Amino acid sequence: MPNILVVEDEAHLAEGLQFNLEAEGHSVETVGDGVEAAALLESDGDRFQLVILDLMLPGMGGFEVARRARASGNYVPILILTAKDDKRDLIRGLEEGADDYLTKPFQLDELLARVRGLLRRRRWDGAPEGDSLRSVVIGGATVHFDRFEIETPSGTVNLTTREAGLLRALLERDGDAVTRGELLEEVWGLRPETRTRVVDNFVVRLRRYLEEDPSRPRHIVSVRGHGYRLVR
Ligand code: CA
Repeated sequence: MPNILVVEDEAHLAEGLQFNLEAEGHSVETVGDGVEAAALLESDGDRFQLVILDLMLPGMGGFEVARRARASGNYVPILILTAKDDKRDLIRGLEEGADDYLTKPFQLDELLARVRGLLRRRRWDGAPEGDSLRSVVIGGATVHFDRFEIETPSGTVNLTTREAGLLRALLERDGDAVTRGELLEEVWGLRPETRTRVVDNFVVRLRRYLEEDPSRPRHIVSVRGHGYRLVR
């Protein structure tokens, strides 16, 4: 049974999330403090399959919790819940290693759909058997999907589930261009018409790992007015 950590200091919201996630068959732990959440995620990387993380928390903010989890090598999918309806905050959350976000107030159905998507993605990317895309060479880097790692000439980089998902979606097109909308739908489970820079933001992250000169990308290439394509 998937074990979900809910980090939320508003008790009524934490209880509501726990009730609804348990009704879906998940096992849930709740924590209302950022310091406690970071300590849990730093000490045991395998305990949780998903973290639902509020940003405004006592003790330590959600950005810092996410950053510390990633710095300690914990790549559990993180879904940010935030009352801050500010793009810069959301993008910062994704830059700190979160996989997805929802803005409060949110629809319960949408939250549960995102949770299902993130848990499914985790199984997918981790599935070792019958998987033709376990590792792949792109330019001077080797991507290991089974280990969530990229070996680059300057060292090994850990991938988040969404970074791996985006790379995989590009690879599956075998060099053909993919639109932002298709990527939003496939990788993030968002509607194709959603207005967001999430795809472009993640492409910037991947280019930092894969490109010799990220300002002149040769592997993840922009297709003007359309999207991206991957050149191995
Ligand atoms: Ca809060």
